[in-house]
Amino acid sequence: MSRAFLITTEFASWIGTRVGARTVRLLAVMLAVSLLYACSHRIQYPADKTVSKPIDKARLVKLADEPGTWLTGGRDYQQSYYSPLAQINRDNVSRLGYAWHSDFESEHGFESTPSVVDGVMYASGPTGTVRAMDATSGKTLWEFAPEIDPAAVRRVCCGVVNRGLAIWKGTVYVASLDGYLYALDIGDGAVRWKADTIIDHQRGYTITGAPYIAADKVVIGNAGAEFDARGYVSAYSIADGSLSWRFFTVPGDPELGFEHPELEPAAATWDPNSLWEVGLGGTVWDAMAYDPQLNLLYIGTGNAAPYPRKLRSPAGGDNLYLSSILALNPDTGRLVWYYQTTPGDNWDFTATQKMILADLDIAGQRRQVIMQAPKNGFFYVLDRATGQLISAQPYATTTWASHIDMATGRPVETSQAEYFDAPKLIFPSAAGAHNWQPMAYNPGTGLVYIPVIEAGAIWTMPSQPFEYIKGGINSTSLYIFPAPGEWGLDSELAKTLPPLAELASGQPDTTIRGFLRAWNPVTQALAWERETSGPWVGDMTAFWNGGGTMTTAGNLVFQGRGTGHLVALDARTGEELLSLDLAASVMAAPMSYSIDGTQYIAVLSGIGGGNGNTYLPGSASYTYGNKGRLIVLKLGGATVPKRAELSHQDNTLSPPPVARRGTATEIARGGEIFLRQCAKCHANIDGRGAGIPDLKRMSATTHAEFNDILLRGSRVDRGMGNFSDLLTPAEVESVHSYLIDQAWQAFEQESQTANNSL
Ligand code: CA
Repeated sequence: MSRAFLITTEFASWIGTRVGARTVRLLAVMLAVSLLYACSHRIQYPADKTVSKPIDKARLVKLADEPGTWLTGGRDYQQSYYSPLAQINRDNVSRLGYAWHSDFESEHGFESTPSVVDGVMYASGPTGTVRAMDATSGKTLWEFAPEIDPAAVRRVCCGVVNRGLAIWKGTVYVASLDGYLYALDIGDGAVRWKADTIIDHQRGYTITGAPYIAADKVVIGNAGAEFDARGYVSAYSIADGSLSWRFFTVPGDPELGFEHPELEPAAATWDPNSLWEVGLGGTVWDAMAYDPQLNLLYIGTGNAAPYPRKLRSPAGGDNLYLSSILALNPDTGRLVWYYQTTPGDNWDFTATQKMILADLDIAGQRRQVIMQAPKNGFFYVLDRATGQLISAQPYATTTWASHIDMATGRPVETSQAEYFDAPKLIFPSAAGAHNWQPMAYNPGTGLVYIPVIEAGAIWTMPSQPFEYIKGGINSTSLYIFPAPGEWGLDSELAKTLPPLAELASGQPDTTIRGFLRAWNPVTQALAWERETSGPWVGDMTAFWNGGGTMTTAGNLVFQGRGTGHLVALDARTGEELLSLDLAASVMAAPMSYSIDGTQYIAVLSGIGGGNGNTYLPGSASYTYGNKGRLIVLKLGGATVPKRAELSHQDNTLSPPPVARRGTATEIARGGEIFLRQCAKCHANIDGRGAGIPDLKRMSATTHAEFNDILLRGSRVDRGMGNFSDLLTPAEVESVHSYLIDQAWQAFEQESQTANNSL
C-alpha cells in the first residue's frame, strides 16, 4: 500500500521540477489514493455497470438520494423496509409480472431479503451461502458456500436458516450456521478473512442472523437460547477482521468475575444460585440497527433456558439483559442505555424482532425514535438517543400483562401470567405476537405494517426436576397450542392438562389466526388489518402464512404468503390490489430496486423456520416442493413460471416394516428423549406433505440406517444432524424402540377407525 504512495510522490517530485509542482503533487496524491483503493478492494464489477461511489457512511446517510438501491437488510440504516420508488403504484400494480428468477438447491427456509447495489443483487441462503447476480438479467456472478460443521445442523431451534448479509466498502459480510463470520470480496466472493465467533463449540451455539455494520466494525450475534448458549455480540474491525470487543448480554457465574462492567449490575437482577452452567440465553439472534448520526448500535436480546424463571433464577429478579433493547457505543462496546421489554421472562418473549429507526412528530415534538413489536404483544416507541419510553400499547391480544406502566416503564403482569402453580392459557404464545418476519415503516402513510400472530399457548411446569444437558435443548418447552397436532391438543402433554374449555374459560378466543396490521406508531392505534390465515384458520400453520412486509412510495405494501402468493395492498386502506401466484411459498420480506428506469420487486421463497416444516395442502410447497427460488417481477412482465407439480401418494399408513422391541421402560425413556431432543423438528409431522420425514412412516432402509443417521451423521446433507455428542447408542436404541412403538400404535389406531367405520 505504502509503495504505491511512494512511487507516485517520487514521480511527482521528479516531474514537479518541470511543471507546476503543487498541481502535479496534488494529482499524484489523488492517483495514489485511487490506486490504494483499487488495490485494497479489488472491485470487479460486470463491464456494463458503472461504479459511482464507495459504499461507506457518506453514501449510507444519503441513501434517500439513490432510491433504486437497497443496501442494508431493510434498505437503509433505519431498517425501514421502505422503498422510495413509485413507478409501481396502486393504479398499475395489477400489471406486475415475471422478470427473472434464480433457483437454489436448498429445501430449508429462506428468511433473508436480498440487497441491490450498483446493479448487482446479493442474496444469502440457509447455512450462510451468498449468491451475487446481475440484477437486470439474474446471471450469477459468483457464489459462496461455507463448509458447515454437521453438529450445527441439530443445534437450531427453528430450522436451518439465514437472515441476511451486510455490504460495506468492497466487502460482503455473512455468518455461517456453525458460527463463523466471513468477509467476502464484493467482486468475486473470495474469502478475505474468516473469524470464529463462538466461545464454546460444545454448546448449542449457531448463527442464523445477519451481521450489521456499525462505525468501522462488523457486529454479529448468535442463536441457541433454547440450548445452552450464553448470549453475546462480537465486533470485528472491518480492516482486518480482528476482534474489537465482545458484549455479553447475561452474566456468567458471578464467582468467576465479570468480563465487562455492565455485567455486575445485571448479576444483581439474578438469583446468585441461578443455573449459570446453562448459559442463560439472551441471544442476539436477529435484529440490530445502527444510527450513524448518534453513533449508537441497537441490539435486541432473546429469552433464556429454562423458560420458567423459577427454574433458572429461583429467587426471581428481572434477569438482565434478557428480552431487552440495548444501545451500545460501537467504538468501545460500552452500554449507553437499555430497555427491558419483558423483565423476568417466563414465556420465550424475545425482543430480537426487527427494530425500525424513524423521526416522528409526537405531542408537537420531533422525536428520534426506535420502534419494535417484540413477541410479548406490545408495540414500543422509545427515544433512540436516551432509551426513554415514549409509548407502548398492545398490537395483539395480550393477557400476561394489562399494560405498560409509563412511570416505571414496566409491564404490569396479570394473575394469568404465571403458571408455576397451575397450567395457564396465556396470550401471546411462545411464537410471539410477531416473530422474525420483518415489519415495514412507510414515512408517507406514517404506518408500520406488522405480520401479526393471534395465538395463545397453554403453559405448565415440568413435573421432573430440571436436568442440564450440555449442548442439548434445555428450554423445558412445556407449552402447547390450543390447536390440533402434536404441538397442540394431540400431544402427550395435553393428556396431563385440564381440558381446553376449562383453561380457556373467561379468556379470549383461542382460534389461531394471522393478520397483517397497519399500526400508527404516533397514536398507538390500529389503522387497518387484513386476515392472513389463508386456508388454515385455527391451525398453527395459520400464523406462518403471512411473511415479512415491504412498503413503497407507490403507496403499496407487499407481503408473501405460504400459499405461494405475493400480495400487494393499498398502504393507506389495506385494499388488496394484487394476489400474484408465484407457485412458491414465501416467508421472507420482499424488496424493491430500479435499474435503467425500471422498478423491480424481488422476494426469496422457500418456507421452514419455526413451524414451517409441515407443508400442508394449500401451500405452494406442498404442490411444487420447497426448493428455494428468488423471484423478480416488473410491470408488464410475463406469467411467473411454475415448477412441475409433485405427486402425493395417499396417506394411509402401512404396517411398520419392523417388529416392536424394547421394554416398556426403554420405550418410555425413548419417549422422554424424543420429546426433549427431537420433537422440536419431528413433532407435528403426520404425513400431510412435510419437509421433515414423518417418523411413523420410516422405511425398512431407514430403520436399518437408524443408528448411522443419529450417531454417524449419515443424512447430514439432508438436514438431519449428527447426535453422537449428545446421545449414547443405548439412548438411540430407546428412541428407536419408542418410534417403532409409535408407528405401530398409529397403524393400529387407523385400522381400528377404518374397521369401525365399515
Ligand atoms: Ca426463543
